[in-house]
Amino acid sequence: MNIFHQEILKKLKERSPKEGSPVLSVYLNIDPSFPSNAKGGYKTILDQMLTRIEKEISGDGNLKNHFREDSQWITKKVETLIPSGKTLVAFCDISEGFTYEEEIPLRLPNLVIYEEVPYIRPIIEAMDEYERYVICLVDSEKARLFLFAFGQLEEIQDTVSLAPVKYRKTVGTDHMRSQTIFKRRAETWTSWFLKDTSSRIYDLMEESKAQYLILMGPSEVTSELFRLLPKTLQEKVVARLRMSTKSRGEDVLETILPVVEERERANELRIVTDLITTANKLGGGFDKAVIGINPTIDVVNQGRAYLLVYPAGTQIRGYFCPKCEVLLDHSPKENKCPYCSEILDATDDLIWLASEKVLALGGKIEEVKSEDASRQLLSQGIIGAFLR
Ligand SMILES: [Zn+2]
Repeated sequence: MNIFHQEILKKLKERSPKEGSPVLSVYLNIDPSFPSNAKGGYKTILDQMLTRIEKEISGDGNLKNHFREDSQWITKKVETLIPSGKTLVAFCDISEGFTYEEEIPLRLPNLVIYEEVPYIRPIIEAMDEYERYVICLVDSEKARLFLFAFGQLEEIQDTVSLAPVKYRKTVGTDHMRSQTIFKRRAETWTSWFLKDTSSRIYDLMEESKAQYLILMGPSEVTSELFRLLPKTLQEKVVARLRMSTKSRGEDVLETILPVVEERERANELRIVTDLITTANKLGGGFDKAVIGINPTIDVVNQGRAYLLVYPAGTQIRGYFCPKCEVLLDHSPKENKCPYCSEILDATDDLIWLASEKVLALGGKIEEVKSEDASRQLLSQGIIGAFLR
């Protein structure tokens, strides 16, 4: 999960164009949960996209050769790929010795672009959409920062710990007095330290564009830290959890997951409820949202679906036209496309094709995973969409 880091994005974004040496940008859906991908179907998709681009490169023989060199690189990569993510993101300009590749756990639309600079817009857009958390694990002497995104937790910086003035017991007649002084020094240090931690959190929230913040540690420390945070950050705190700063990353992850899952569940439920209410509204609703297989496939075909909502793991049989790419949930007479009369192909997974279509047209998808939201969706018509 590197490409979502600001520094990597910045490097890609600021790569200066080399004249006559464009960059090949590839986004390829390799998700093995789609049956045809499990059989390597994404290789064919890549070939088709590359061929299309090659045809568009006219005249200049040098440019064509340049393109072939780049397209051979990605073809070779994909040939030997054993997919572990959902989308392969790759950039290359072989003649300049520049390559970048990464499998990311998100579905992005298939795309091949050949232009002067790496095409990173899909990544930037995905960043706005997917939830990221900053986690601060803190006690009165030590703070550890983590970033959680796409199911992965990453520790950001090493422990910052300046030797604090420790509160310790002293003996002698001055006992009471020195104890107070030490205690006061320790308190001052802690307060300075927590203020510093607050500004480190601020920086990381800015840099990672995280939407949420979780504070972990002894409750008296996390509440003091909370008090010191700027108001804009206070509003982003979604949980305060007890945890030792010595904890292993795995344990931090285990502790925050219920918080994250609860947020996701609540979010899915909100979307599904909103979809059902809007779509069922008498009169006005229909131009804002639809629910049910037939009306949803209709708006997908018309390119009007802005957000397609469907339950994870559900498949619907259907048909599609290989020529005009229209989708149908039932086969019309003689199995012919009602628009162009081509013979239709059958598919076991109409929802997948619909989601590909929505993504390709710049729309979004919401795959509902939580149980109660899925149940509501299934009982109300299985799939639905908000309209543009
Ligand atoms: Zn057709």
